[in-house]
Amino acid sequence: MAVRRVVKYGEKILKKKTRPVNFSKERKLLGAIIRDMFDTMIFAGGMGLSANQINLNMRLTVIRDKITDNEFKDYVLINPEIMAKSGTQKGQEGCLSFPGLFTEVKRFSRVKVKALNDKGLPVEICADGLLARALQHEIDHLNGITFIERLPLITRVKLKPVLRKLKKEWARMDESSMAKESRWKRENR
Ligand SMILES: [Zn+2]
Repeated sequence: MAVRRVVKYGEKILKKKTRPVNFSKERKLLGAIIRDMFDTMIFAGGMGLSANQINLNMRLTVIRDKITDNEFKDYVLINPEIMAKSGTQKGQEGCLSFPGLFTEVKRFSRVKVKALNDKGLPVEICADGLLARALQHEIDHLNGITFIERLPLITRVKLKPVLRKLKKEWARMDESSMAKESRWKRENR
């Protein structure tokens, strides 16, 4: 298990559009990166994580969709693109790059996404509800857009002091050292 440090809001890489993955050239590296992304996402309690959130400039995202309390479906999406979208939904959203911040975000209610999976095979996902929301959130990340940019201007203005306060807390946060510490505690109990 390797939990990596999650990049926080304010760090430049989150604002940059990520570079497409060349699957045949990069396939050897991808396995370890994808495993670390799942480890990091699960450790931090997220539903999705994009590669630029662990400081890698790659068009790659992972999502864990909870089906029931003990059932889930994992998605690995390489070079994902939204092909079609419809309807609107409003719901609470959080982001591992903004720990502690939850806010209502308006999204499309249904999306169709095409991508490559972890084996480099083309896949198409038609999603609604929470999975559709997660797909839009993560693909936004890969395009250099964070969820606060999807909020109405008035809400963003109101959030400014909250973000300023949270940023001070994030400066001391590092998931990789937190994971090591909790493992050490478990092993030395
Ligand atoms: Zn996010």
